[in-house]
Amino acid sequence: MELKEIKGIGINTIKYLNDLGIYNINDLINYYPFRYEILENTDINNLKDGDKIVIGGVCENKPNVFHISRKLNKMSFRLNTGKFLCNVTIFNRAFLKQKLDINTQITVIGKYDQKHNSIIASDIKFGLIKETIIDPIYHSSFKISSSKISKIIKSILNDVSVEDYIPNEINKKYSFINKNEAVKIIHNPKDQQSLENALTKLKYEELFLFMLRINYLKKYQKKIPGLKRKVSYEDVLNFINSLTFKLTPDQEKAVKEIYQDLISPNRMNRLLQGDVGSGKTIISFISLYINYLSGYQGALMAPTEILAIQHYNNLKKLIPNINVVLLTGKLKAKEKTEIKKQIQNGEANIIIGTHALITDDVNYYNLGLVITDEQHRFGVNQRGNLKNKGITPDILYMSATPIPRTYALTLYGDMDISSIKTMPSGRKPVKTYVKSSKEITETLYMMLDQIKKGHQIYVVTPLIEKSDKIDLENVYQLEEKMKKAFGKICTVGVMHGKMSGIEKDKIMNEFKEGKIKILISTTVIEVGVDVANATMIVIFDSFRFGLSALHQLRGRVGRNDLESYCILISDKETKRLDILTKTNDGFKVSEEDFKLRGSGDIFGIKQSGNMNFKLADIKKDYELLLTAKKDSEEFLNSEEFKNNPKVKQLITKSTNLN
Ligand code: ADP
Ligand code: MG
Repeated sequence: MELKEIKGIGINTIKYLNDLGIYNINDLINYYPFRYEILENTDINNLKDGDKIVIGGVCENKPNVFHISRKLNKMSFRLNTGKFLCNVTIFNRAFLKQKLDINTQITVIGKYDQKHNSIIASDIKFGLIKETIIDPIYHSSFKISSSKISKIIKSILNDVSVEDYIPNEINKKYSFINKNEAVKIIHNPKDQQSLENALTKLKYEELFLFMLRINYLKKYQKKIPGLKRKVSYEDVLNFINSLTFKLTPDQEKAVKEIYQDLISPNRMNRLLQGDVGSGKTIISFISLYINYLSGYQGALMAPTEILAIQHYNNLKKLIPNINVVLLTGKLKAKEKTEIKKQIQNGEANIIIGTHALITDDVNYYNLGLVITDEQHRFGVNQRGNLKNKGITPDILYMSATPIPRTYALTLYGDMDISSIKTMPSGRKPVKTYVKSSKEITETLYMMLDQIKKGHQIYVVTPLIEKSDKIDLENVYQLEEKMKKAFGKICTVGVMHGKMSGIEKDKIMNEFKEGKIKILISTTVIEVGVDVANATMIVIFDSFRFGLSALHQLRGRVGRNDLESYCILISDKETKRLDILTKTNDGFKVSEEDFKLRGSGDIFGIKQSGNMNFKLADIKKDYELLLTAKKDSEEFLNSEEFKNNPKVKQLITKSTNLN
């Protein structure tokens, strides 16, 4: 059924609905309210000033309308509640005047102003409320109101039927109401209890299908034939023993797990999780080496160019006899062509790069392993873009953003996980201070102290606006200040996102080599950059960052046994920032971050499209999620799944494996 078939809706209304993403009846039915307003008559015996009230009565006089401007009008009339008289004022509802005759029964919703004995109304409903009314509230627009949307949906509720994807068994087990009923109720609830039941049913369905998808993926993924490799652990150990440091036990365990995956006939799909500085990079190098020994190409994708270059240089140093190539978006066309040729004909053994590895038109000769560093930076689906000759590469994700268990389950539910929990020995926690901008002198002295010791310092300023100009001003203003303070005793360098890859590389190298002592930058250094002699990071306007981002930045220092410092300069939200002074544990920090900011905007999770539930909230509905998880596992392994074409089709279509 199409929108235009609905009685009483015109071409304009259809357009306004389209603007909200509603194109057909199905969209309309699936346009759920985002909250409910509960209306109950207020007890008028002890009204206080400022009370929110819902009050019934009749119009005592015909309303007066004042047109204040073209867009603003004000209507007033007197309401007789049967017990007392009061004034009612409401804005921009002049169109109601026609219907508000003397003695019309209405219910007024608004705020009570005792001094003037009046109500500033937010809404007027015709008729009196006898029992509690639960009003669904929809996301609306200037053109079409929530109540209009509600009216339209109510008018078609009896004509539609929706598919219930929950297996009968489960519906019975929890005595769920059927889905048609549930959908009707959430658009037109009669009482709290049935609304609760309807919401539970629909949330469960979302979570059940989501977990079913993940479990299906996991099960199916395991069946995808991986690559056959012949590599002895001897060779791996020899390589590990040639390193300048000894692996930590967690690192060793991770290597073993990855080695097992690589030699097993199944495809690897693993997440390597570990706090900043825990030493994930070397694990990725060892993995690439194992993969190389077995005769395949390997790719390592980094979120930024700086990081790609750093990995490239380090790996080349570590295994000079292997052809490692660098492919980033910023290479010259000619260089790019040459490198792509080497990738295609198999001359390139290990390819390191940025997004270009998947977004550019790259054909691999025999790509056996793909590693992405700081996984959350990439859309999960991008892995599908790899062009590879008929083989399915093993996959390793690395993430320094420890995520609470709740989220790990949903985000990475289809993966195996290796965790590095302990830091390499000798690391000291980074001493962290929150300072106001007034305490700048103190901060400068602390910086001076480090410079005198021969150490280096990062100074970071956030991206303030989308405008690049302002960012640059910020960076350069800071440079001026820093030069004033330190210019006579040491070099100050600047780096920002607008510089070319070559320029950034040059500055970064100068910093690494110690030629630059103080490096001022925007967050381009945020992830992964490794300069052991840097012992202090000063972050201006820290309040603009999430705690996890600050923790990442702080991870740039404290990378060896030197005492190191992080100074968070902020005049706002110092309480929130204080958490960082108390813990160096990335898990704790991210827990706090989740608590404070919710799951939505962190780590670009949204990008993965995984968590766009309409009703369910994985935090609030965690228990339901666990139930759905268990049920979906059982269901997946049951005969019923095989014999349930509608669910099976839904799941296989949406998992889109390749
Ligand atoms: P991250 O996990 O944040 O990517 P890195 O891999 O960059 O961390 O490691 C941080 C630093 O620790 C690097 O300088 C690395 O060489 C060093 N490192 C890694 N593993 C060890 C180890 N087992 N012992 C000593 N230093 C190590
Ligand atoms: Mg790293």
